[in-house]
Amino acid sequence: MVTHYEYCPLCGKKLTLKSAGEDGMVPWCPDCNKMWFDAFPTAVIVLTHNEFNEVVMTRQSHLTNRHWMYNSGFILPGESAEHAAKRELKEELGIEIRNLENLGTYWFRGGVLMIAFLAYIPKCEFNLSDEVEEAVWVDVKKAAELAGPVRPGCADFIMMKKFVAEYGVCDPDELWPGQVVE
Ligand SMILES: [Zn+2]
Repeated sequence: MVTHYEYCPLCGKKLTLKSAGEDGMVPWCPDCNKMWFDAFPTAVIVLTHNEFNEVVMTRQSHLTNRHWMYNSGFILPGESAEHAAKRELKEELGIEIRNLENLGTYWFRGGVLMIAFLAYIPKCEFNLSDEVEEAVWVDVKKAAELAGPVRPGCADFIMMKKFVAEYGVCDPDELWPGQVVE
């Protein structure tokens, strides 16, 4: 999903290259005097936890049938990542989050930049959107099981490991034991 520009999106002229200092040579439209850096979608992924160290897992078959997953969604133009994270949780689960903690950024399948957050809310019922078939509070080991196989470096893997380490929930190595290496 990374867009590399060869023609100017504004006027259609074939782009040439221009030096952008330390960023190297970048596609440039001489008519519009504009540089066209590679573009890619940016999304948020949110691990939501409660006072019992349980996390939210959801089933959304329009996205995948294979596994349970965390809440995620694309950031809208002009929207902050924090706002997008809160909006997704409000839309998908019907919950209002105040406490958000950034858990870093990750590439998803080479084409989407994922900004990961840890969200806290006291245990509550959900008011699910039509896009979400099911959402459950589960302990972290169960969540790792439901998430299915993960790759080292992916957001799921690092978010969960950071969460259990920071909150002393369990040894991070107990999640996905033997399945992945860091
Ligand atoms: Zn142009």
